[in-house]
Amino acid sequence: MARDKYQPTDRESLVLDHVGNPKYDRQILNGLDPFINGTAPEDTRGFYSSSELEALVQVRGTERDVEARMPVKMTRHYFEMARNSPALQKLVKGSTDETLNLEGAEDPGFQMDYSPVEGLLHKYEMGLMYVISTCSAHCRFCYREELIGRKEVKRQDGTVDKKGLAQIGEVTDYVRSHNEAVAANGGIHPDSGREKLREILLSGGDPMVLPNNKIAGWLTALAEAGVESVRLGTKELAFHPDRFDDAFMSMLDLFHEIYPDVGFRLMTHFNHPDEFLTRDESGSYVEDAGGFYEWNPSTQRAVEAVVSRGWISVENQSPIIKGVNDDPDALRIMQRTLKRVGIENHYFFCGRDIIAHKAFNVPIETAWQTLNESQRGLSGVEAHARLSITHYKGKTEVAAVTDEPVPGLAGSENGVVIFKILRNAAAAPDRGKVCIVGRNPDAIWFDDYEDRVLFDEAGLFDYARVKALRLEETAAVPA
Ligand code: SF4
Repeated sequence: MARDKYQPTDRESLVLDHVGNPKYDRQILNGLDPFINGTAPEDTRGFYSSSELEALVQVRGTERDVEARMPVKMTRHYFEMARNSPALQKLVKGSTDETLNLEGAEDPGFQMDYSPVEGLLHKYEMGLMYVISTCSAHCRFCYREELIGRKEVKRQDGTVDKKGLAQIGEVTDYVRSHNEAVAANGGIHPDSGREKLREILLSGGDPMVLPNNKIAGWLTALAEAGVESVRLGTKELAFHPDRFDDAFMSMLDLFHEIYPDVGFRLMTHFNHPDEFLTRDESGSYVEDAGGFYEWNPSTQRAVEAVVSRGWISVENQSPIIKGVNDDPDALRIMQRTLKRVGIENHYFFCGRDIIAHKAFNVPIETAWQTLNESQRGLSGVEAHARLSITHYKGKTEVAAVTDEPVPGLAGSENGVVIFKILRNAAAAPDRGKVCIVGRNPDAIWFDDYEDRVLFDEAGLFDYARVKALRLEETAAVPA
């Protein structure tokens, strides 16, 4: 394997030889069995009602098996936060509602089309890597359910296989050769048209499940390969904030000391203020003497450790999920509170068309209205976040939804939705281009607007891969 062949440089060893690797006891409750068999810790047993468990047992082994779709997993910390929070329970508890409708794609957005080496997606000037296939706990709406559930995915060449994890040797070889070709060709890759691969996101699963030496191995190897900035995507601040301890922070400090020019961006994943604020007995968020909301002490410690290091940028992104956070008041509190402690609100997402997405996705127009409503009363810096929906072409903003028709535009009688391309593959030729569709309040994916496209300079509804797939599906239907 390429990883076995990878030899750290002397400079990398300056970090790697001094990394502490404590063990973390997350007290994980794995699967439904502990609840069904009554072996879960006593205080957790009421987390599922007996009728919920009965229904979950009934679908076991059938195509509606909830755990076969997405493994069930929860940390003790998350249980403590969720036990009094319906929103967090919806996020983490398996439910038979999830498999009522199994429509959806195993590889939403055809991401595997952009995978030049196993475990790496290279679509923009940024690459994304799968470095692990699990998290400390599992969100039921996870759009990586095919990776976490170890399912098989069809690739563009027609082969079918599980998604593999990235290997240091293979990925760094690819980064070097891509960037050399870009440099030799005046800043653009001669074949793909992409720019320098400047930034890599460590993702999965949650990289914070890896031990510190493995995370350090990725950071140093990517820095040596010429990557200018490394992102780490994590929900560990919600699932097990004590993971952000002195050993982890010292590793980051040492990495920064040895590679001061390489940026580090922590992409956090809070979905709801119940994941970090405390509530009193009446259910209200506790406020301190100054009127500020009181944080869960472990989460507060972890957040302070990260944001106090000015060289780490911390950005939160979250999908808007039915029953979890499709609530303007919760989103308003979350945006305001995160910004106050130094965490930027980066993106909110519309849920992707994963298998069973109908159980989780709110309609696109509702998501836009929810976010828009949540940002009323926020200051400009608190309301930075945009609503994004990931099209196969690239990251797209749901820029506006109108209630009124556009004068002179046939088909806009019930108002319009305006999409705008934020980023797309290669040198982002379509950035800024828009697509206008007539409203469909039930639409949860682009497909639902197909019959009401009014203007499409962005080409969202004219895309060869999507069309080819549709033709394939039509051909497969018997006459
Ligand atoms: S933290 Fe992210 S990758 Fe992990 S289960 Fe939740 S959505 Fe999926």
